[in-house]
Amino acid sequence: MAKIKTIQAREILNSRGLPTIEVQISLDNGLTAQASVPSASSTEDYEAWDLLDHDSQRYGGRGVLQAVKKIEEIIAPALQGQKVTAQKNIDQILIDLDASTNKSNLGANSILAVSLAVARVAAQSKKQELFVYLQDTFSLASPRIPQPLFNMFNGGKHSDTNLDFQEFLLIPKLQSASEMVRMGAEIFKELGLVLHESGYDTDTGVEGGYAPNLDSSLEALEFILAAAIRAGYQPGQDLHLGIDIGSSVLYEEKEKKYVFPLDHAYFSSSNLIGLYHEWLKKYPLIYLEDPLAINDWAAWRELTKELGQKILIVGDDLFTTNRRRLSQGLQEQAANAIIIKPDQTGTITETIACLQLAQQHHYQIIISQRSDESNDDFIVDLAVATGANYLKAGSLSRGERVAKYNRLLKIAELIK
Ligand code: PEP
Ligand code: MG
Repeated sequence: MAKIKTIQAREILNSRGLPTIEVQISLDNGLTAQASVPSASSTEDYEAWDLLDHDSQRYGGRGVLQAVKKIEEIIAPALQGQKVTAQKNIDQILIDLDASTNKSNLGANSILAVSLAVARVAAQSKKQELFVYLQDTFSLASPRIPQPLFNMFNGGKHSDTNLDFQEFLLIPKLQSASEMVRMGAEIFKELGLVLHESGYDTDTGVEGGYAPNLDSSLEALEFILAAAIRAGYQPGQDLHLGIDIGSSVLYEEKEKKYVFPLDHAYFSSSNLIGLYHEWLKKYPLIYLEDPLAINDWAAWRELTKELGQKILIVGDDLFTTNRRRLSQGLQEQAANAIIIKPDQTGTITETIACLQLAQQHHYQIIISQRSDESNDDFIVDLAVATGANYLKAGSLSRGERVAKYNRLLKIAELIK
């Protein structure tokens, strides 16, 4: 059985031109594979930590040379000679080497890059597609093509626009991957034309969605619907809408109110829940991500109780792929769906453990990109292997986002 021979790490750039880590692993049978990791602009308290250099002379302190050093000097010697297919064992070694609760010693960026590269090269050594290898290794059920959540508008911390909400999403009805991707791409193109004709900017934000200044938050939904109809699709039938409110940054803790500057409005938790009810009457919305702030548990419970049978109430910042936070959420009966981002926890084994805990409690699963991505498409194989319901990989523009949808198209051919 193939063993790990060398592990090399390097500093590369992510989609925002900031440093991230790429790891290359070679086996004693001559095979080599690489993996690279994303990072985020909206990190939350409960996420695992990325190790950054904090050397203001380089990349404004965001260099990752220390993390590269930890991989080569601490992780590589510990994994050399390990059986590469022993993923859970290797992930445990990484967890033990770090020995913190939030990966603050070695960094989630270092650890995840190694964990992903190990899986990829192990799949190669077993001559398996990555998603098949993950299924075998973690005894997962049959593969499934997730529904993509296509980013149409970027707001919040993800763009230089007046849009307060982080993402406006188009959700195609479940059909073949190529039909879903085609619908997303056609509507995205049409949306650009509609915006241009209406005199709006068609520049894009960090996840590739359009980022104009609009007159209200809901105008973004109106534009998506207009573009969908013009592209020949029927909203409510062929597609639905979703929003990542990213509400924690809009919440004023002291005064317990949510402030939406663009709409010149502010809300108490229960007024905001009332507003969501209104939106559902007007729009084919089936998805609200982080509609409430991360510690506003009572409101989460209320919203889930009132709308949880109708739409997806999604915890992203709420859970941060953290089993302790998810367990708290289960107790509080908050949300009915969870965003899973491997870099928020640090190893594939921990990612799948969190996802399975959510699945056991019948939460819908969304595997997600981060705002600062690499070209790595690992999350797509992870989504297919784990039977995730949805894949959130950004817009139909920007190479690092489209790379994920292209991998989905390829996998769909393989599992026909
Ligand atoms: C998100 O909030 O869903 C997201 C992808 O953004 P970030 O990576 O900035 O957390
Ligand atoms: Mg989010």
